[in-house]
Amino acid sequence: KVRIRGLRKSFGALEVLRGVDLDVRQGEVTVVLGPSGSGKSTLLRTVNHLEKPDSGSVSVDGTFVGYRRSGDRLYELREREVLRQRTRIGFVFQNFHLFPHLTVLENVVEAPVSALKRPRKQAEAAALKLLDRVGLADKAGAYPRRLSGGQQQRVAIARALALEPDLLLFDEPTSALDPELVGEVLDVIGDLAAAGTTMIVVTHEIGFAREVADTVVFMDGGRIVEQGPPAEVLDSPRHERTRAFLSKVL
Ligand code: ATP
Ligand code: MG
Repeated sequence: KVRIRGLRKSFGALEVLRGVDLDVRQGEVTVVLGPSGSGKSTLLRTVNHLEKPDSGSVSVDGTFVGYRRSGDRLYELREREVLRQRTRIGFVFQNFHLFPHLTVLENVVEAPVSALKRPRKQAEAAALKLLDRVGLADKAGAYPRRLSGGQQQRVAIARALALEPDLLLFDEPTSALDPELVGEVLDVIGDLAAAGTTMIVVTHEIGFAREVADTVVFMDGGRIVEQGPPAEVLDSPRHERTRAFLSKVL
């Protein structure tokens, strides 16, 4: 499903990704853990080509992200084509990034109408279903600033789902939330997982990782140090760096 091979990325002299290989199977949830600066956000941003890798590749369902293969070479796609590919990969940010001047419903409807050219009525009907799914059907007409952080993040999730993505990426979706609002957002992500959504989730919520992840990945210094089922990586990590990290966050 998702195949990441030999992914490298530097910013100036700083090597942020030093050769990342990762597979995420259809319908599976991969949780990425790691200390600040280990490259987790850069990995996600490279997966949907918000950052261009220096080398290596990402493919989703056999299609290279940002490139077209011809023979055994990869050619860069134009920006338009990258944008089209990106509609297949949803991204949920730490700080929600909702459009403040649009209502909740308009936020969810925007991309299907503008990027996929869906008729507005049809997009609105689909959006209302998604809002119902994240528990916010009654907030369709509200503006983001009137919502709690947890509600805003659930809108952001509905908005990402509106494009019916093949893959959903979450970058610390609950870190900006007050503690009492974390659960409602994790519950929604857990429901998506149960429904078979393919996801890569960067989070420090170890309990969530234990319950929801099929695979837990521990990154440090731009590399995957260790990966496996949650019970292995979280309960009997093989690497000292993983142990040291977990002892700090648990
Ligand atoms: P955190 O847990 O703090 O979010 P992270 O694991 O997500 O950390 P990244 O955001 O991927 O880490 O950053 C890895 C390193 O790359 C950091 O040292 C960061 O300062 C640097 N970096 C990230 N983006 C850029 C950029 N656009 N230009 C320069 N340096 C960058
Ligand atoms: Mg980050």
